[in-house]
Amino acid sequence: MSTIELSNRQEKIMQIVKDFGPITGESIAEKLCLTRATLRPDLAILTMTGFLDARPRVGYFHTGKNSNHLLAEKLKKMVVEGYESTPVLINENVSVYDAIVTVFSEDVGTLFVTDSNSHLVGVLSRKDLLRASIGQQKLSTLPINIIMTRMPNITTCQKNDLLIDVAKKLINAQIDAIPVIEEAANGIKVVGRITKTNITRVFVELTENDG
Ligand code: ADP
Repeated sequence: MSTIELSNRQEKIMQIVKDFGPITGESIAEKLCLTRATLRPDLAILTMTGFLDARPRVGYFHTGKNSNHLLAEKLKKMVVEGYESTPVLINENVSVYDAIVTVFSEDVGTLFVTDSNSHLVGVLSRKDLLRASIGQQKLSTLPINIIMTRMPNITTCQKNDLLIDVAKKLINAQIDAIPVIEEAANGIKVVGRITKTNITRVFVELTENDG
């Protein structure tokens, strides 16, 4: 990934090549009302830095490499919807023992705890379960609502929130997962989950797609 700052004219050339490429140097010059000779240094820089590639008799084309600026712009527009995972919900009255079994069977690190109306009442993490396990309590009779982190102290997000803001919430709250919620008439429904894994997936995806 190049961090080279492009001049205004180079940005224009990039846009033309993106829109019309493959395109000859002559045609780019024509669109900018400049001569081919004037453009030559810019085209040389853009090819050398790897933003553009050129093939004889074909012309210039976009290599798919993005400037950091374009990458950041793209990232800042991404929202939760489309990147969330399925949430794993568990009733508040089940035992810590059953919650531990669920963590294994569902292969998740965080469970979202709901009441009998399927409304969000708490969150249960692996460390919450470990803490209870090293205590003296009997795990098969200890209900999870005793040990969970409870509402209103739950960090949540919604489908149209920006992913970058959710990533910041994960960091600031020092947590692994955030429930994606919808406000219902008399409570909160959990419709998804964003974890550090989802954010990591976005990170990888950004390097694979071009602008
Ligand atoms: P772990 O405890 O396995 O490292 P986390 O870092 O996610 O997992 O959890 C740390 C603490 O924060 C736990 O007590 C957990 O109940 C709580 N927690 C986890 N997710 C949330 C959330 N979205 N909102 C509020 N508290 C949370």
